[in-house]
Amino acid sequence: MTSKLAIHGGDKVKTTPYGSGKRFGLEEAKELLEALEQNTLFYHFGNKVKTFLSNFNEMYGIQYSVATSSGTAAIHVALGACGISVGDEVITSPITDQGTLIGILYQNAIPVFADLEPHTYNLDPKSIEALITPRTKAIVVVHLAGNPCDMDAIMDIARRHGLKVVEDCAQSYLCKYKGRLAGTIGDFGCFSTNDFKHMSTGDGGIVTVNSGEEADYYITHAFADKNYQRFGSSVVRDLTHLAPNYRMTELQGAVGIAQLKKLNWICEQRNRFGDKLTAGIKDLAAIQPHQITEGGWSSYWFYLMRVDESKLSCSRDEFAQALAEEGISCSAGYIPQVVYMQPLFQKKQAYPNSSFPFELSDTEYSKGTSPVAEQILLTSIRLPINEFFTDQDIEDVIAGIRKVAAHYSV
Ligand SMILES: *Cc1c(COP(=O)(O)O)cnc(C)c1O
Repeated sequence: MTSKLAIHGGDKVKTTPYGSGKRFGLEEAKELLEALEQNTLFYHFGNKVKTFLSNFNEMYGIQYSVATSSGTAAIHVALGACGISVGDEVITSPITDQGTLIGILYQNAIPVFADLEPHTYNLDPKSIEALITPRTKAIVVVHLAGNPCDMDAIMDIARRHGLKVVEDCAQSYLCKYKGRLAGTIGDFGCFSTNDFKHMSTGDGGIVTVNSGEEADYYITHAFADKNYQRFGSSVVRDLTHLAPNYRMTELQGAVGIAQLKKLNWICEQRNRFGDKLTAGIKDLAAIQPHQITEGGWSSYWFYLMRVDESKLSCSRDEFAQALAEEGISCSAGYIPQVVYMQPLFQKKQAYPNSSFPFELSDTEYSKGTSPVAEQILLTSIRLPINEFFTDQDIEDVIAGIRKVAAHYSV
């Protein structure tokens, strides 16, 4: 016996709005005012970016990090600091934001897409290893949606093949793998503070320098600052190689100081809601919950479940539509398609009238390159998680999924 779906004229499961709240308040305003009173908004002369980074370093238990203008910039800086150059191959994930790929291409290196694990949606280590060639120089792992990659296996592969590891943590603040924070395990960790991430400075980013070597810190720092090497009050402006200007301003640093104080609560809330959702749906035969990597702790930037269409009398899209009619926010899939199906890769054209750097490598970007990743996007439903949600919201989401699954289960 199942109750009538809202899409068929029945009562909706969710009748109250999702919990919401203000992300910014007087804490941020006070820091911003102090930044302006410094009479400089330049990170190297003021104290806000410096304080933001030192608080971040303390939270992450690391010695060195560099502030950037975005998460995309952070990844580019990490790759630059790794020495990634023309014709190098960099293995990464096909389900990610394009910010993961832009720095690779600006270094004139070639993205190579590995496949994913079917339920964590993170890189499958075996698939990475199969793609290594003499050109391979680095792996950019993407800890998708707050969930850590299988870092023991990935670091083992990297060590055996002499590859650098850059962790894209844009979606994964305070995410842990076997007790260690994501972003402190590879050579570099990259974070985004764009307005859609766990914490926001409007735009911005952070690169962690995990070797603990001062020399690596200086190289990383200079790569975000036009190659300017700033030591105290002296500056060396020698232009030895190309490096962009990705500096963070004091205004962003100021907001970051206040936002960082809220980060623990934000991530704890999201972790609790995501895990509660899994507990409420994991017995459903037709639903495959968002699986957390073994030994992992997720700060759920979003929740991605999969539906097993062979156990349902409806399609994934029909399921998502019925769920939305129940008042449950959701969308079918995540990004519209795996990134290698984008025109840039299909045409192998990153720059106008040029096939450089693709012509330097044999890498192909055809449909079927990463079959598991393609299937994930075709069979998943994305549910928002937010720190301001209430327990009732999650209970409603669970009730909605259970109602729709009960109706369509075969
Ligand atoms: C948001 C995001 C980025 C890019 O961050 P920006 O600050 O928007 O440049 C990179 N990778 C992933 C996985 C992201 O979600």
